[in-house]
Amino acid sequence: LDLKNEDLKHLSELGSGNSGTVTKVLHEKSATTMAKKVVFIDAKPTVRKQILRELQILHECNSKYIVSFYGAYISEPHICMCMEFMDKGSLDNIYKKWGPVPVDVVGRIVVVVVQGLTYLYDVHRIIHRDVKPSNILVNGQGQIKICDFGVSGELINSIADTFVGTSTYMSPERIQGDQYSVKSDVWSLGISVIELVLGRFPFAEASESDDEVPEELRGTLSPTNPSRRAGQGGARAGVSLEGTGAQMSILDLLQHIVNEPPPRLPADGGFPHSLETFVDTCLLKDPVLRPSPKDLTTHPFVVESERDKVDLKAWVQTLV
Ligand code: ATP
Ligand code: MG
Repeated sequence: LDLKNEDLKHLSELGSGNSGTVTKVLHEKSATTMAKKVVFIDAKPTVRKQILRELQILHECNSKYIVSFYGAYISEPHICMCMEFMDKGSLDNIYKKWGPVPVDVVGRIVVVVVQGLTYLYDVHRIIHRDVKPSNILVNGQGQIKICDFGVSGELINSIADTFVGTSTYMSPERIQGDQYSVKSDVWSLGISVIELVLGRFPFAEASESDDEVPEELRGTLSPTNPSRRAGQGGARAGVSLEGTGAQMSILDLLQHIVNEPPPRLPADGGFPHSLETFVDTCLLKDPVLRPSPKDLTTHPFVVESERDKVDLKAWVQTLV
């Protein structure tokens, strides 16, 4: 598909994040509804062209666990990426509206993320880098797919230079700037699973405020270099530590993730034992001990969830 702005009819806004804005559009020539993501980056034209070249790998990422890619183009000064439109939106919006996600549905979500990450790494040597509920999408057919993985090194760098990364899902080793691997995505999955089954972000009481970053920190915290100004802490970011009621800055939270025991599911929460051990193994702080996505494919919670026939179509029909 040769995509350009003129051929895309704007339908509605879908949302925006740290790196850009997503709209629902209609590609009239092919009669295809798409989600168009406009990424704001402050980069030279040569860098933008390089990003566009790197994004072409997305055409080869074909899996039922991954949102399809239609194409990307430059609309100066932005990069536009068109992908499969998922009409039920992302899991963060779903749980914020409908409450905690049922454990059997979370089982299917875990299968998708584990298999999707395994595919990306085994076949394309891609590390996702941004696993979180807003990057897991659902459609009316009951399909669940992951999106927004880091295929372009140049794009990752450009975003890191301009915007605050998704620090609250970052693994301890990534926060510390250590060697960083596909196992960091497993940590982010563990945090996301707790968030989905509890219906709230595990580190914060008020989940709306967890990514509110003070203006003066914008551009200083990044996924690749999170601690550039770590010594200057103290900026309030409205993150409250569970149970303490104390306000924490983003930097305090990052320090908490590095220094304190990882979050766990509540022992009296009535969750299956296999889910509890799944979360515990994803959140092993030492990346050497933490499994890779491929290792997780044999975890009892994943094996049981693969076997269970969950009626996802019935579940999405409750989301209206
Ligand atoms: P971040 O920028 O930190 O990754 P984010 O994932 O919330 O945060 P975006 O990726 O810009 O931000 O997405 C914004 C919102 O658009 C998402 O929360 C999701 O609800 C919606 N969205 C994104 N992609 C699609 C899609 N393919 N189909 C339907 N809705 C989408
Ligand atoms: Mg996203």
